[in-house]
Amino acid sequence: MSLETKNIELSNAIKKAFKSKRKHPCLATDEARIRCSKTAIGSHTIQKGAGLKAIAENGHVYQVQAGSISKNNGSRTDFHKVGHNLASVFSGFCAEHDNGIFQELERETGDIGSFDMRLLGYRTICMELFKKERTIQIFNEPRVRKLIEELGAQRQRNGFISGTRLAIADLNRQKNAYEAYFSGDRSVPFYASYFEMDRDLPFSFASGFAPEYDFVGNFLLPPPDQPWGSGTVYVGRVKGRPIASFQLLDTTKHHNVAQFFHSQHSLDMRRVGGLFFQFAIEYSENAFFKMSWIDNMLPELKADFLTRFRNGTPGVPNRNKASISSQADIVRVAAKEFHQFPPRD
Ligand SMILES: [Zn+2]
Repeated sequence: MSLETKNIELSNAIKKAFKSKRKHPCLATDEARIRCSKTAIGSHTIQKGAGLKAIAENGHVYQVQAGSISKNNGSRTDFHKVGHNLASVFSGFCAEHDNGIFQELERETGDIGSFDMRLLGYRTICMELFKKERTIQIFNEPRVRKLIEELGAQRQRNGFISGTRLAIADLNRQKNAYEAYFSGDRSVPFYASYFEMDRDLPFSFASGFAPEYDFVGNFLLPPPDQPWGSGTVYVGRVKGRPIASFQLLDTTKHHNVAQFFHSQHSLDMRRVGGLFFQFAIEYSENAFFKMSWIDNMLPELKADFLTRFRNGTPGVPNRNKASISSQADIVRVAAKEFHQFPPRD
């Protein structure tokens, strides 16, 4: 078998493993911080229905996916049609916790408060943790390991796995800090902000990210020997209103995340929609787009965004991210209000 064929076989084996159905334990913990022993159901990471329904056309949205790899066609990253009921689902919580924990967030009306921001952050962190833990499991599966060995790629595999383990450690710090707060411990500062939009944006997403630059282009990352802090970004509806928002628990000392939030005051409200579109492209695999909006986009722009999506290397700062608030002004939806919560709220 040629190396090329083996490579294709490996990437298809990994994809197939990700799609396979299996039982996962619920990620929630109780008051005493003991993990729930029930089996997880499919949880939505974007508000049940509301967020995705607002952008769905005939029940469908687009998601950027690498195409199935075949010997003749190679891999093609493109917008693929997915059903809005299945989009953004992950096996994170049992039915009881999925309904119980996020009850407040699922209300259709009312004020948007700091607690809603915490729930959004917690759910997204759990989704990222689930995906990373699943990745490690898959890379440890005998068939995948065997193919990697045959390709002589053990070193890359080990590097990838240790990088993923570092990310898991950070996500667990975040998850623990959220759970500590839910049981009454407010010692970790929590930063959160949201923009209420004039109307629904033509995309919706929930994702983890590390703030590398603030919104005026200042570099924020800590020295190389210090851990990065990471937060979450969410675009969708909350309490019946279209919002775009950031949540971050500051569990590290040297990462200037306060500046990331402070610099949001300088943003031009008319460009906020465009800014969050950049985040969807640079940071999120869990982003969904309104099909007609993408179909009407200039082909050159669409190709450029797909390239940027593909080239986004997690953990590597790039200049696109430094000027994220002043790029591609193609989203004609302005923000009408900006809210920021004090870190001890
Ligand atoms: Zn549970």
